[in-house]
Amino acid sequence: MRKIEHIGIAVKDIKAAGAIYEKLLNTQIYKVEEVESEAVRTAFLQSGPNKIELLEAVSPDSIINHFLEKRGEGLHHIAFDVEDIEAEMQRLKSEGFILLNDKPKEGADNKLVCFVHPRSASGVLIELCQDKK
Ligand code: ZN
Repeated sequence: MRKIEHIGIAVKDIKAAGAIYEKLLNTQIYKVEEVESEAVRTAFLQSGPNKIELLEAVSPDSIINHFLEKRGEGLHHIAFDVEDIEAEMQRLKSEGFILLNDKPKEGADNKLVCFVHPRSASGVLIELCQDKK
């Protein structure tokens, strides 16, 4: 794990939340992207070296919708930047962490990603992400 790559926040309305975070961070959203496999729309903001990802459901059975129903808006996941996602997945698996996918999958913002179950990490969903080469 090299650093926190971004922090993901689940929101009901990405336009409204985007406007709030643009004001908060005094910067503009630099990218809005839909991740079809997850049925989510994402918006990214950069503040200094730090990135925030806002996540909105695009269908009723989106994982974000389930999250919002259970917990409401708020912190959804912390993403760590990794150099070699497959090696890191292997390492975490051997340490007993529950991975939510067997293989790295396509994530937003040109990344390969894998999620670690919150049950394995004191209640926080963890995302591993590696830059696509
Ligand atoms: Zn993320």
